Amino acid sequence: MKSLRNVKIVATLGPASNDYETIRALFEAGANVFRLNMSHGDHEEIRARHAIIRQVEKDTGRPIAILADLQGPKLRCGVFANGPHELKDGAVFRLDLDAAEGDATRVQLPHPEIFAALEPGATLLVNDGKIRLEVLECGADFADCKVIAGGSISNRKGVNVPDVVLPLAALSEKDRKDLEFVCQLGVDWLALSFVQRAEDVTEARDLAKGRAAILSKIEKPTAVKCFEEILAASDGIMVARGDLGVELPVHAVPPIQKRLVRRCRAAAKPVIVATQMLESMIESPVPTRAEVSDVATAIYEGADAVMLSAESAAGGYPVEAVTTMHNVALEVESDPTYRDIMQSTRNVTRSTVADGIVASAREIAETADIAAICCFTQSGTTAALVARERPRVPIIAITPLVGVARRMSLTWGTNCYITGEVTRFKMAVVSAARAARDAGFATENDFIVVTAGVPFNVQGTTNIIRVAPCDERLIISTDLE
Ligand code: PGA
Ligand code: MN
Repeated sequence: MKSLRNVKIVATLGPASNDYETIRALFEAGANVFRLNMSHGDHEEIRARHAIIRQVEKDTGRPIAILADLQGPKLRCGVFANGPHELKDGAVFRLDLDAAEGDATRVQLPHPEIFAALEPGATLLVNDGKIRLEVLECGADFADCKVIAGGSISNRKGVNVPDVVLPLAALSEKDRKDLEFVCQLGVDWLALSFVQRAEDVTEARDLAKGRAAILSKIEKPTAVKCFEEILAASDGIMVARGDLGVELPVHAVPPIQKRLVRRCRAAAKPVIVATQMLESMIESPVPTRAEVSDVATAIYEGADAVMLSAESAAGGYPVEAVTTMHNVALEVESDPTYRDIMQSTRNVTRSTVADGIVASAREIAETADIAAICCFTQSGTTAALVARERPRVPIIAITPLVGVARRMSLTWGTNCYITGEVTRFKMAVVSAARAARDAGFATENDFIVVTAGVPFNVQGTTNIIRVAPCDERLIISTDLE
């Protein structure tokens, strides 16, 4: 099963993609990772979708990553007495702790810790940033705000507080329950919403106890500010452009996207570019030119993955949306300009043996006529380092651990294969050659580059690089033990 595409596709599941046929069609159209959004759907729905994904994985024989996205500390206002209210520019509107139904002059904001953190001059955004309020005066249980940009406010609308570090736990009570539920089901990635600091990531990691890798969604200005610490604490990153574009001016998002994608590549951690990539395809079978260009841009930047949200979860054309992303990827990745960008943005600082080995693997593979780079990987780290090189030849990651294979489905260009225990180098070369042939990347007459660590099954020991034939008889008769 030859994958000609390097960038990965994450498809969010929802009411439009709930059944086996649709999920299988999404996979066959090119989805590599399925996202379960814990903000929508109850545990039984999530359990059913999870079971279908694992069934598709079994039926197709290819590892699939499941990413569970926790809702995080999303603030919402209370309810109103008489339907939606129109807030007029220049008016004064009060937020308070009173649970009484709101009107055109006030509404509840049931978060005492927010009032404690607010200061006059702070901005509050309501309803995806459509309403902008500026705090005039505030106390322990109220904030009187001037309406800077008015609009319609109604029950339980989302509230964003962009320029304040909120004294909120990274994980709400619901998040903790959801986290335990999905970890018991068995997911590969946990996405954390509204991460504000590195400690938020550590907290989730402590609860996950190694059962899932941790991906931080960058959607707050504070997270952008301490991005380096968050990146160091995380296994992957999502550029969550939806909320980021509410908390910051929308025009601030593209440069942040570019910087985050580059930093993630340098750190060899996967990065997803998310939200509104093909928004119009929620209702239309064809995307806008601007959307196609946006997907292409993320791929040219070297992102590991591009994501569909409502397009695949609630839209009318989920499979078409995946196909669109796939086709854009094929076009971009065969463009010589793309190769130039990948090369000119490659890391040159190297400090470990593994760094040297993966750089050499790429160099050899691109110099000689090599069919694939096959790397034995225990934790996925070596495969991630090979992917960081963005080589021109396919990457095959071989691991005895199904969880690692699934997790690596998010990583750029990585095709994952599961082997039995490998204890001898000759065995490793044989199974690498077999994986390359089975994947359709090589024939018996081809050569591959194999990287591994001896002794086997010990993490962090990448110390071998070998150019090997794909013909098993040749390997057996000539290769090292
Ligand atoms: P969400 O996150 O879809 O869970 O809000 C992504 C984003 O904000 O872009
Ligand atoms: Mn978000």
